Order: sequence, then C-alpha cells, then structure tokens
Amino acid sequence: MREHRQFYIDGQWVDPAKTRDCEVIDPSTEEPCAVISLGSAVDTDAAVAAARRALPGWSETPPAERIAYIEKMAEIYERRIDEMAEVISMEMGAPKAWARGAQAAAGLGNIQGCIAAARQVQFDHPLGTAEGAHILKEPIGVVGMITPWNWPVSQTTLKVPFAMAAGCTMVLKPSEFAPLDSILLAEIIDEAGVPAGVFNLVNGDGEGVGAVLSAHPDVDMISFTGSTRAGKAISKAAAETLKRVSLELGGKGANIVFADAPEGAVKKGARACFNNTGQSCNAPTRMLVERPIYDEAVEIARETAEATTVGSAHEDGRHIGPLVSERQFDRVQALIETGIAEGARLVAGGPGRPEGFNRGFFVRPTVFADVTPGMEIEQTEIFGPVLSMIPFDTEEEALEIANGTAYGLTNYVQTSDPARRNRLARRLRSGMVEMNYKPRGAGAPFGGVGLSGRAREGGVWGIEEYLEVKSVSDWAAE
Ligand code: NAD
Repeated sequence: MREHRQFYIDGQWVDPAKTRDCEVIDPSTEEPCAVISLGSAVDTDAAVAAARRALPGWSETPPAERIAYIEKMAEIYERRIDEMAEVISMEMGAPKAWARGAQAAAGLGNIQGCIAAARQVQFDHPLGTAEGAHILKEPIGVVGMITPWNWPVSQTTLKVPFAMAAGCTMVLKPSEFAPLDSILLAEIIDEAGVPAGVFNLVNGDGEGVGAVLSAHPDVDMISFTGSTRAGKAISKAAAETLKRVSLELGGKGANIVFADAPEGAVKKGARACFNNTGQSCNAPTRMLVERPIYDEAVEIARETAEATTVGSAHEDGRHIGPLVSERQFDRVQALIETGIAEGARLVAGGPGRPEGFNRGFFVRPTVFADVTPGMEIEQTEIFGPVLSMIPFDTEEEALEIANGTAYGLTNYVQTSDPARRNRLARRLRSGMVEMNYKPRGAGAPFGGVGLSGRAREGGVWGIEEYLEVKSVSDWAAE
C-alpha cells in the first residue's frame, strides 16, 4: 500500500502538524490502496503563508518566464502520463484505457491549452477612449483550490497552470477520495523547478482544510469544482472576507434529439451518459426525444445500455468501471429505486450490482423511459450511469423541459436543421451548448449558469478568472 502522508509546502515535502490517517479505497476491490494524512488548520496556515511569501516574486516574474515553467510541467507530465493514468485507475476506478486516453490525457491537454491561452493574454493595454487611459490586468493573489474526484487531474489542471500563468500563488486541496493524482502533479511541479511557495498541496477533507481555506483572511480567491451543496457552503464561509469565489458545480444536461438528427445520435448520447460511469458534471443525462422517433430511440438506448460492459479498473478493455465510493454507490442505488417508485419505465439495468459482481462499487447501466418533467430523477444530479428519456412534441416544449432544472452546465442538440440549431443555442439556459457531437474547439471556456456555478475555465477566460482589472489614467507609453 502506498504511503503519502506528507504535504507539499514551500517547495518541500513536509510532515503534517499532527498525523491523521485516511485510507484511499480502490473502488474496484473496496480495499485500501494508499494512505494519506488529513491536514489541519495549522498545515493550511503554513501553506497559505508560503503562498503569500511567494506572491511578490512570482507576480512580478515576466509572463514569458511563467509560461516557460508551465511548458516544463507539460514536458514532465507527458513523460509521466502512464503513472498518472495508473493512480487515477486506482483511486477513482477509471478503467486503464479510459484513465490513460481520457482522464490523464485531459490533464495534459489542459496544461498545453493553458500555454496557448497564456500567449494570447494581454496583461496591459490602452483603453483607447482618452489619452493615457490604460488597463492593467494583475494577479488576484493567493488562490485556494478545492477539487473533486470524478475527473481529478482534469479539474486541477484547469486551475493550477492557469493561476500560475496569471501570476497567482496557490494552495490546492484535492478530494480526499482521489488525492493521488494531485500528489503526482505536485511532484511534476517540483521537478519543473517552479519557485518554492508558488504551488502548495495540503490533503484533507471539506470540513477541515476546505472550510479553513474558504474562510482564510490571507486567501484572495477560492476556485472550487464540486457539488452545489459544497459550493453554497464555501460561498457562505468566504463571505466574511469578500474573497472572489469561482464555482464549477453540478449539472443535469438535456440532450434534445429531433427526428431529423444525424444517424447514430441516440447511441452516441447514451454512451456519453454512461462514460466515466456517469460521473461527469456535463453528462447528457436527460434525453429528450421527438415523438415520431421516441420508441425507436428507447430501443436503441436499451441496446446501448445492455452492450455497455462493466469491469474492474485494472483490466484492459472498453468497459466502464465502478463508482468512486460506497457513498456514491448508495446514493445512485437510492435514486434508481426512486425512479421506479415515481413510475418511470425501467427498460435496462436497475438496482443492485451487475451479474457476477459481489464486491466493488459496480452499478448497472440503467435506462428509464417515460420520465416526466418534475420527477426527482429528472431534476436531481444522479452521478451514475442512469439515463432518463422523455418524449416531446414541439421545439418549444423541448426547450421548456431542457431549461426546467435549476442547473445550467451543458445542453446538447441533435438536428440537421441549421436555423433550429442556432435558435436553440441562443435560448438554452446553460454555459455550454454542444450540437451534433461536434467539439466546442480548443480554447473554449468551460462553465455554467444557475446552480451549475458561474466560473469559466480553460482558454483565455480561464486565465482571466485569476486576474483583477486595474484602470489607470495618464499612463506613460513604455
Ligand atoms: P463535493 O462537493 O462533496 O467535494 C468536492 C470537494 O469539496 C472535495 O475536495 C471536498 O473535500 C470539498 N468539500 C466538501 N465540502 C466542503 C465544504 N463544506 N467546504 C469546503 N470544501 C468542501 O463533490 P464530489 O462528490 O467530490 O464531486 C462531485 C460533484 O462535483 C458533482 O456534483 C459534480 O457535478 C461536480 N463537478 C462539477 C464540475 C464542473 O466543472 N462544473 C466538474 C466535475 C464535477
């Protein structure tokens, strides 16, 4: 079993002020695979103080030099990407191929995307409306980062390099369920020679390190990814110091499939819902299908669920792995039971583990048809491989259902009608709209509205999150 009790503070691996062991459970086996220590307010204070001391030097380091460190991080990450995939498989149950090709690859893509974006950011420029009127964009300061377990290194790499590029220093508290990838990221940052104190890592839980960071008077901003519940708690804890709070929260994405959708739209949508065992905030979990193709769509979704195999994260193959934890397993099971009790039609999967499993947090890819707007399974983020299918008759009705939750992260549209695509892209209430499974493109921002939070990560927006705008008059040309 791996032992990682130390924290990375001020450029060194240091012992916790007081060791408090926490086992990391491998969700495929339910056995501990590593032990970390949960930090305290003393460890958090030490990390914040280190970040504060490093701030003047790092914020005044020219942007090109900061980018050079991030380039070095990308190089080392690429060399160690297989190790990254291995720890992600172990800690959160992503099967090998998915851990390497999707999870670990996303981390590298984010660091590279940050480098491209950082080259485009204008840290100062004339305003243009009066002589000498000028805008300076300055790092906000010390950032506390709190991240979840579901896309662990993708989420940390949408924060850490972007804040570094902006000139901020930081303290990261990753999820206590999946801390191993962040420990490896700290090793990568250390090997890249990033100056001491710029990046600090303290492991811990939400009530301990997370809450202390959120309320800390020397932390200027919290960048959080996780549940809407914790997002609200953090916002309240941060209110006293009026720090900036950037939130990437949950989602309940609608996937609107019209009768003229391109071939394969339903199958792709169901697969996208089951990927990562349904543990993606932007998963298309509600499939809204135009009535003439609804019965056929339900049949395709059923076949897709039944063709989705489930297996250990330590095996090769294109199967989906277990859920991350017992807590998530119990939650998803309870919501599947709720769907049945609410009268939705179960067409695939259902409660219990898949056949052949009596251990591990494995669940059955599940499809509910005839779900009606307002049912709990239609409103609540399930965070498991559970698809809800809803028929609709008109575009207006589809829009109303899609916009009918408090979330607003990603919505999806499948239609061959270009005018309809643009109409819906404008009227869907979400930070992102993905149509016909086409990519939003490198450098596109990621984020939501409503209970999905209001952050914008990735691209130039992802760096601007960490900048303050200063307005100056009578600036002398340099
Ligand atoms: P969670 O909110 O329970 O935990 C996330 C992080 O917050 C962990 O590090 C945890 O220790 C910490 N935390 C928990 N309570 C806290 C508190 N009171 N104060 C400070 N920190 C606290 O979420 P989770 O179960 O780890 O992750 C799943 C959730 O994350 C889902 O709701 C999912 O939709 C969301 N998510 C959102 C995005 C996005 O970009 N919008 C991306 C991935 C995941």
